[in-house]
Formats: sequence, C-alpha cells, structure tokens
Amino acid sequence: MTDGAFTYNGGRVDPGETADIRYSISETYLGDPVRVPITIVNGPYDGPTVFLSAAVHGDELNGIEVVREVAQDWPHDNLHGTLVCIPVVNVPGFIAQERYLPVYDRDLNRSFPGSDTSTSAKRMAHQLFTNFIEPCDYGVDFHTSTRGRSNMLHVRANMDDEDVAALARAFGSNVIIDSTGPEGTLRREASDAGAPTITVEMGEAHRFQRRFIDEALDGVASVLAQYGLHPADPVDWPGWRTTIESGEKTWLRADAGGIVETHYAHGDLVHEGDTVCTITNPFKSTRDEVSAPFTGLLVGLLENPVVYPGNPLCHLVELDEPTRRAYERDRNGTMPERPA
Ligand SMILES: [Zn+2]
Repeated sequence: MTDGAFTYNGGRVDPGETADIRYSISETYLGDPVRVPITIVNGPYDGPTVFLSAAVHGDELNGIEVVREVAQDWPHDNLHGTLVCIPVVNVPGFIAQERYLPVYDRDLNRSFPGSDTSTSAKRMAHQLFTNFIEPCDYGVDFHTSTRGRSNMLHVRANMDDEDVAALARAFGSNVIIDSTGPEGTLRREASDAGAPTITVEMGEAHRFQRRFIDEALDGVASVLAQYGLHPADPVDWPGWRTTIESGEKTWLRADAGGIVETHYAHGDLVHEGDTVCTITNPFKSTRDEVSAPFTGLLVGLLENPVVYPGNPLCHLVELDEPTRRAYERDRNGTMPERPA
C-alpha cells in the first residue's frame, strides 16, 4: 500500500475511491461461489486502515447495520485513511440465520487466521484474513449475545496489550471486559498479526436494535476521531467507565428449572440482596428467588425465559464506589466529568 492504494488479491482501490465488492472465499455444494460483501472506502487523504466487521456469528445482526451505515451513509469526502467494511463475514451462517457455519457447525470465530490447506472454515478464514484483515492497522468486530440472551453494549479487549487498550478506550463504552479471547477469534488473531482489534457486544441475536446501533455508531465515530481518520471530530468520553478483569464477571445461574421472571433490565444497577429473577413452576408457585450476591451492573440477561438448573440467568459485574456514583449521576442526567 505504498502509493496509498488498498490492494487485495485481484483488485485495488485508489485514494478517493470507494468499491463495493463481493469477494469469493469458498464454493457451495452446487459449485457456486460463496461471496462476502465488502466495501472499501479509501479516503482522499493518508491515514490508517481500519476494518469494521460483523456477523462472524451469522445470526448476530446489530453490527451489520452499524457497518453498512458507516460504509454507505456516512460522508467520506474528508476521510484520512481507509475503511474496510465487512457487514456479513459468515455468509453461509447468515443465510441459514445460524451462529456457526452450517458446514459441520464450525465456529468461524475459532478459525482465524485460517489456512489454505485445512478445513473449509479455515480456508474461508484464511481468504478473509490475508486479504482484508492483516493489511489493517486497527479493527472493530461487532457481536451480540448468544441467541436467547441479551447484553448491554460493552467492549471486550485484551487490556494487557497497550494498543488494544487504547482502542478499547477510544470506543467510549461504559463497560470494558478485559480478556485475551480464545484462540482463533478474529480479535485475538488480528491483534497478534499487528492489527489491534476489539470486540463490541451489543443486544440480542436476530434483531436490529436501534439504540444499540446508534450507540455503536457513536463508538465508531470516536475511534475514527482518535486515530485521525476524521481528525476534526471529538473523541467520546462516556461519563463513566468500568474495566472488568476476567474472573470478576459473574453469571448467576439457576438452581431450579422453570419459567423465569426478571425484575431488571440490562444496564441496571442492582444492590446486594435485591431479587434479580424469580423462577416459577407452571402453577406460578415460586421455585427459586435469585438475589444479587453483590452490588453491581447487569451487563447481560436471559431473554428466552426458561431454564434448566445450571442455565445462566444474568451477567452481573461489580462496580467500585466511584464508578457507582458516576453511574448514578449519569442516570440522573448529569454527565460526570472525565477524570484527570
Ligand atoms: Zn458472536
């Protein structure tokens, strides 16, 4: 990319050009190409290359709309750098409206960086990774909660990696969950290959949820401001922020089977001892009341209200005292100051 062009196997996009392409990464049982839609926006000015990807899990839709709107609806006349927008990464999963590749149920998000001599999933991953991920300087990969659950918008990032941590903060979410991520995930493998990448988790599978989409678009704008792609724009400060170490997060699980009534929404603060969920039988007798073991933020919640014993009910994370006060000021409509 010496002359500012974005090049991939079989094509190039010059500065000031935008290209909507359908890139072949595999073949179906019918011998037809499996083509991934990708928009390359190469701005008229020099700058970093950032990828935005969604639906690596084929039924996780919110991010698709985020990536499409950035690619198609935002003005890019003043873009300093290049955007690689992949709204639907897992095309076979998307067509089937399933999380995994419907080829032996493989998780595309455990298949990166891929290989051109291995399984079908790894071959697809390899095509995408070498052509469109590795050439990037940064990346944001959008997900939702698994089917039947929902979560508030949060960032997952390896906060031990300074470049990834800076990107996570630039996105401007209230909650960052610190984890390296399993091997084979797009964010971990892209980061290891030199493109610091974060995952954004938001809402439910199978939905377009406008308020999450808008929140994520603000996050993308903030990232583009931070790295100079939109140099005149401000970087977001979300008012309060908590970074959760892996291990601190807690999924509360059901101890009884039954039908679940939840008393809070994700994003709510619950106090120690508050009843978060009630599990009842078909005759509405209470089987179990699940209370918060500590005061914290409900990051994720069950949406499909039925459980076996051991099924997860909600994802509760502890907030320290200053963060809790900032959260409460934010909820009361007085935006807290950015800490010095
Ligand atoms: Zn996912």
